[in-house]
Amino acid sequence: MNSGKTMQSKNKVFLPLFIIVSLFLTGCGGSSNNGTVAEASSAPAKVYKWRMVTTWPKNLPGLGRAPEMLAEKVRLMSNGRLQITVFGAGEIVPALGVFDAVSLGNVEMGHGAAYYWKGKVPVAQFFTAVPFGLTAQEMNGWLHHGGGIELWEELYGKYNLVPLACGNSGTQMAGWFNKEINSLADLKGMKMRIPGLGGEVFERAGGTAVNLPGGEIFTSLQTGVIDATEWVGPYNDLTFGLHQIAQYYYYPGWQEPGPTLEAIVNKEAFATLPADLQEIVRVAAKAVNDDLLAEYTARNNNALRELVDQHGVELRRLPVDVLNELHKISEEVIAEIPGDDELSQKIYRSYIEYRDGVVAYQDIAERAYVNARAEALEN
Ligand code: CA
Repeated sequence: MNSGKTMQSKNKVFLPLFIIVSLFLTGCGGSSNNGTVAEASSAPAKVYKWRMVTTWPKNLPGLGRAPEMLAEKVRLMSNGRLQITVFGAGEIVPALGVFDAVSLGNVEMGHGAAYYWKGKVPVAQFFTAVPFGLTAQEMNGWLHHGGGIELWEELYGKYNLVPLACGNSGTQMAGWFNKEINSLADLKGMKMRIPGLGGEVFERAGGTAVNLPGGEIFTSLQTGVIDATEWVGPYNDLTFGLHQIAQYYYYPGWQEPGPTLEAIVNKEAFATLPADLQEIVRVAAKAVNDDLLAEYTARNNNALRELVDQHGVELRRLPVDVLNELHKISEEVIAEIPGDDELSQKIYRSYIEYRDGVVAYQDIAERAYVNARAEALEN
């Protein structure tokens, strides 16, 4: 029952307090941004109008919401001083042209996933997903408290980019198939849409990996350009209608256990922003990073029930032998990625060292708890 009158009287008390605090800060020279508190109150605020290109079809639920949420949060938090217009794949540049468009400064921002750029920057794949690697929660730990983001900035700095973690789907599904997978031999000769390091592993297991953006998956599978595909998880896969053209839905998503999405900013464009707008962009990206994961966590099970109960999808677990063999190949593949490049080796070592530590602890934390819960629910 908060009436307008109550709010107004609260504001009356709040306003003088705010002025007193502002005067105090200005009088003491206490602002941390070189006196811009005083300037901001006298000069009209400069408005920045940016464009953000993305690897997602415009208005795609789930993944496609991340750049839209980012733009909206930045606009609100900056009181309209930074306005970002979001473009879907193909509107200004094709999905896989996002990295170059932002790197060259043709647009100020982009949104996608680092593993799409593996042809140009192989080690970038570590910043999206590593097969049998980090979950979403673990990935956030590495990036924001384990040295990951600093290494990512060093890597992307070479391409005139500032990277930000901006979204995570949580553990994905292994994908959609039209034949059963009973042994590794069943993958031989199969053409599958599977990007990133998972794709490299799939190739070494005898298949052919195809790096297709989301918008091209349905038609490619329908017309037989590919035999199988992974995309995200139930929530996103349902909206693509993949159940209409594939029978078996396999789990777990060994290839993408907790993939991070990226927002990329052209370095020079970022440098033109005052410190408060830079911080707004960083904080908004972090908020989106958390919120997208929460959305997937909340929606995946309902979408899965709809796929299985209403559309007759056959849910299958990959056999343990197949997973073990894929794991063996994965370790070989990721160890080869750094090659002779010093920074790539540093990124690889940082990731592996963190992963080994986190896995050891998760054994007695998340994993121990989830196992205990499952056992308790069964009894
Ligand atoms: Ca995927």
